[in-house]
Amino acid sequence: MRFPMSNHSKVNLLGMQLDALDMQQAVDTVWQWREANQPATCRYVVTPNVDHAVMLQANRRLQDAYAGAGLVLADGAPIVWASRLLRRPVPERVAGSDLAPALFAHAARLHAAGTLDQPLRVFLLGAAPGVADRAAGKIAHRWPGVEIAGTLSPPLGFEHDAAENQRIVDAVNAAAPDVVLLGLGAPKQELWISEHASQLRVPAVLCIGATIDFLAGEKRRAPRWMQRVGLEWFHRLATEPRRLAARYARDAWVFPRLLWRDWRGC
Ligand code: UDP
Repeated sequence: MRFPMSNHSKVNLLGMQLDALDMQQAVDTVWQWREANQPATCRYVVTPNVDHAVMLQANRRLQDAYAGAGLVLADGAPIVWASRLLRRPVPERVAGSDLAPALFAHAARLHAAGTLDQPLRVFLLGAAPGVADRAAGKIAHRWPGVEIAGTLSPPLGFEHDAAENQRIVDAVNAAAPDVVLLGLGAPKQELWISEHASQLRVPAVLCIGATIDFLAGEKRRAPRWMQRVGLEWFHRLATEPRRLAARYARDAWVFPRLLWRDWRGC
């Protein structure tokens, strides 16, 4: 079920209902979820890129996870271009790796102005052991007004283990965060939150891929100019060619065909 907090428009693209929001509006929406003070309602954000859009076509569970998301934001520049090409534009790219720092910066601004009543409590769930702790230290240092509620790096294969999943849910609920950064990669993170949102007492969960690694300084993001001209995928491919080459080759083949089908309306 979706929980619209504003009357912005939605854009149907390749079977996804994208929210036509810019970065500031996305931050404001997540902030409103927190302010609504209904921790029993867990809303989550997914941020599709080309690879996710391709995966979604054949993955029914991922489609359901997307349908249950509180926000669906265009992460990849090619998704934004596609929305313009098909004349259903979203305002701009809102990447998960930018949304998390933008949210922290919002908290830091309110803190500096003396108008933040409670610190923004953030839980980092995902990434290799030790990485989330390093990211936590950097976040707390860089953004006053943000408090780390906890970190957890789930063991390999945790998603198939009911007892392990319950332990994770209990640990997150016990930490009482405002926001969870969920970095398990796609589609694992989207499937996990769609399955467990009803058990979580957290206002907002952001599915953010490798963002915890970026915040920890473990992986480097593409330089700003590459992000601006839509070459972030190329930078990732260059840094992890073995893992990503086959995936990106498939995406380069399938994505234009999906666009063509969508444009023809079939
Ligand atoms: N990851 C994890 N648990 C898993 C699988 C992945 O914590 O079972 C983390 C991994 O350590 C990394 C992130 O998920 O921090 C992967 O994000 P990325 O966006 O690179 O994954 P992709 O969506 O490209 O597969």
